[in-house]
Amino acid sequence: MSVPATLTELDAAHVIHPHAVVGAPAAPVIWARGRGATLWDIDGKEYIDGTCGLWQCAVGHGRPELARVAAEQIERLEFYASFWNFANEPSIRLAARLAELSPAGLDRVFFTNGGSEGIETAIKLVRLACHVQGRPERNVILSRKSAYHGVGVASLAATGIPPLKEGFGPLAPGFVHLSTPTRRADADALVAELRATIDELGAETIAAFVGEPVMGVGGMIPPPDGYWPQVQAVLREHGILLILDEIVTGYGRTGRWFGAQRYDLDADVIVTAKALTSGYIPMGAVFVHDRLVELLAGTAFRHGFTYNGHPVGSAVALANLEIIEREGLVERAASVGARMLERLQPVEELEAVAEARGVGLMLGVELAGDRDAGPVAAGALEQGVVVRASGQKIVMSPPFVIEDAQADRIVDVLTAELRKLA
Ligand code: PLP
Repeated sequence: MSVPATLTELDAAHVIHPHAVVGAPAAPVIWARGRGATLWDIDGKEYIDGTCGLWQCAVGHGRPELARVAAEQIERLEFYASFWNFANEPSIRLAARLAELSPAGLDRVFFTNGGSEGIETAIKLVRLACHVQGRPERNVILSRKSAYHGVGVASLAATGIPPLKEGFGPLAPGFVHLSTPTRRADADALVAELRATIDELGAETIAAFVGEPVMGVGGMIPPPDGYWPQVQAVLREHGILLILDEIVTGYGRTGRWFGAQRYDLDADVIVTAKALTSGYIPMGAVFVHDRLVELLAGTAFRHGFTYNGHPVGSAVALANLEIIEREGLVERAASVGARMLERLQPVEELEAVAEARGVGLMLGVELAGDRDAGPVAAGALEQGVVVRASGQKIVMSPPFVIEDAQADRIVDVLTAELRKLA
């Protein structure tokens, strides 16, 4: 009788994991269940979720209410296309709810299945707007080094992390990367660089600027004081549209519903995903400002994903947003984030640490020199704390429902791991 293969063996034989080495897979942690900010693997080992995996889980794991909503919607209508003149009730109600929550003027949404699709959509929208205005040469997208905008040929071209692009060329042309706006950078110098770049390329060739309000994957990098208002003013002056990538920051992670509100930004497009449904069903929403709608009025937008406006995702998103509101989770993200940052800051005294920083529940520790953060994350995982290594940075983005004691344990375990570094 043959011995049944273990899940680890089946995984190694049949699954290609994102960002893993093909043909040489590491043994996976196989998650079995979750509740709040607690996870258990298939061996019953308990972990504190310091990252939500990929930042998505605002309301925490294992919410029976969201399971019920999804099941009820599947029983009623699992899916029907939203192309052309087809629609469904949950996605219409969700769009209207999002218009209430979003900053002024962003009253319409285009739904997607996730972040990269949202950035591809935003880029197509702004380029199409220029095209229909009789300015097809106005197609360059300004981005920043260290930015992460996704994996499509345009969203990856917008991304400013070179190793992620290696070997995938040619990517979409027409992307120019400005310097990373690190917390301690000189905002005036960054704005001068933006002005010089516009002068060099010619404003008449530039469609839009895309940016995360706070850089996430790049290392939880809050912008220097005064950066965003000046950038916005320069873009306005030159008729360049602003696309905000709020795929991580949207729906509360910075301690405000949107990063746009935190930094007082009046964006033309805001791209969201992740916490829209807390990841219970994949879904994203691209907010389009009335200004851009006016430019596009009368134009067919020949673009769409099969699962656009998914009724199950929409029903779950509505219930998820209600939980965020009912339980005051945006405020919770602000307060527990501030607590974690305060307790984390002393690690800056360690020789191995260059900086500890954060905004809301986006926290990062950058190691000094060219130290790799991998062993720090691996050490924490051993002790049942999930944090993420991104190059020489540790990034954290726990669920908003994380308890104080759990948040403190993440910081304590991380601090102990950092102390082990030479
Ligand atoms: N933009 C940002 C800021 C992100 O953090 C991510 C994913 O982490 C994306 C875009 C891409 O989103 P997705 O992985 O859902 O395609």
